[in-house]
Amino acid sequence: MTTTYLWAPPPVHSLPVRGKAERLPVHRLFFVGRNYHAHAAEMGRPVDKTVEVPFYFTKSPSTLVESGATVPYPPETKNYHHEMELVLAIGTPGFRVSRADAPKLIYGYACGLDMTRRDLQLVARDKGRPWDLGKDVEQSSVVSEIVPMPGTVLDQGELVMSVNGQERQKSDLSKLIWNIPELIEDLSKFYHLQPGDLIFTGTPEGVGPLQPGDRIEGRVAGAGEIRLAIGPAE
Ligand code: MN
Repeated sequence: MTTTYLWAPPPVHSLPVRGKAERLPVHRLFFVGRNYHAHAAEMGRPVDKTVEVPFYFTKSPSTLVESGATVPYPPETKNYHHEMELVLAIGTPGFRVSRADAPKLIYGYACGLDMTRRDLQLVARDKGRPWDLGKDVEQSSVVSEIVPMPGTVLDQGELVMSVNGQERQKSDLSKLIWNIPELIEDLSKFYHLQPGDLIFTGTPEGVGPLQPGDRIEGRVAGAGEIRLAIGPAE
């Protein structure tokens, strides 16, 4: 018997893949919190890896936007920030994966922007509330085409982004506090990682506010390029 629905089911969220006609169907969106020392410091929350573990938040896959889009300046914020990040795409399932086996889960990489209502995120953080209104913003998870490189650990390479041609964020993947295998090992303690899970690996220093009309360009060595334009406020 064919299943019927009251209204059209939500779309499958997906991304283009370099060199392929098939698109990558997206499952979940995971985000690593403070994962570069200089960004942790600028947020007033330095990280001591000897006594801390990574932390995460998630966004709905419906927040996904492809590189090249124009998105509205979102409602209920006066401090909409860019966070440029390396995105890891999982291609093979894994649960309680060792660091040594972690590369087997890697499908490829992309550039990402973890757009953030910073004012609301900081209120939530300081009051001990969930981050959703600050982070799970409609059209806030921007991702470039996926670059396939199964099994490859990206452990160095420049990450850089600019707003209206002026450089804002610049770092190197070698400065990740928890590297790619360590993140897979840790996150897979909590989740059965699935093909199509995307992990935004954290932003370096230089996050900052955007205005309607701003144009963002960024790239990560080996993981392609990303563009985003900020449209008028909704
Ligand atoms: Mn982020």
